[in-house]
Amino acid sequence: MFLIIMGPPGSGKGTQAKLLAEKYQISHISSGDIFRQAMEINDELGKELQLAINKGQLVPDELTNKIVERRLLKDDCHKGFILDGYPRTIGQADALGLLLDKLGCELTKVINLDVDSNIIIGRLKKRLLCKQCGASFNLITNPPRNEGFCDSCKAYLSVREDDNDKTVVDRINIYEEKTKPLIEYYNKKKILCNIKGDVDVKDATKAILACIER
Ligand SMILES: [Zn+2]
Repeated sequence: MFLIIMGPPGSGKGTQAKLLAEKYQISHISSGDIFRQAMEINDELGKELQLAINKGQLVPDELTNKIVERRLLKDDCHKGFILDGYPRTIGQADALGLLLDKLGCELTKVINLDVDSNIIIGRLKKRLLCKQCGASFNLITNPPRNEGFCDSCKAYLSVREDDNDKTVVDRINIYEEKTKPLIEYYNKKKILCNIKGDVDVKDATKAILACIER
């Protein structure tokens, strides 16, 4: 199974991606994770990436595509994957299409979590992160069982650092301009699952599974 999950920042796509990866036993490929790994390895691609990020630029498509390609060629991706945070532009989607052709696989579905920007802004301000195990929570849609503490490792949760107002609005604007056109792009290919994302995590998961297995 080869999936993409898309949605504005704060739509809960990371949480859904993790659940789907577990359910279908496929690899969860998050662009944030592979960027971090590339910078840790600090090879040529990693250095290029660090430079772009230090300058505060958007990472160029060509560089992003190379980093993703390197990851998707690994063995654990043969049986399937769910991409989370990639592609983010039409250019990246085209590159992904070529790569999948080369690998001889086809996208099963593209899941779009549809959430209104105003709801997102409110929601992002209520995001909590476990710095110990990386689990994320949301005071509204996915609250931790014990207020302030991680469900998995019981560590104290902190507010996500990048979730201040300006960053939130910037990220949503970039999403609207660059990423939203992908909804139509994949709709035309008839593999789009448009899911209402402003519901609780369990209901969104149910709707996603129903669409995948349709
Ligand atoms: Zn934790």
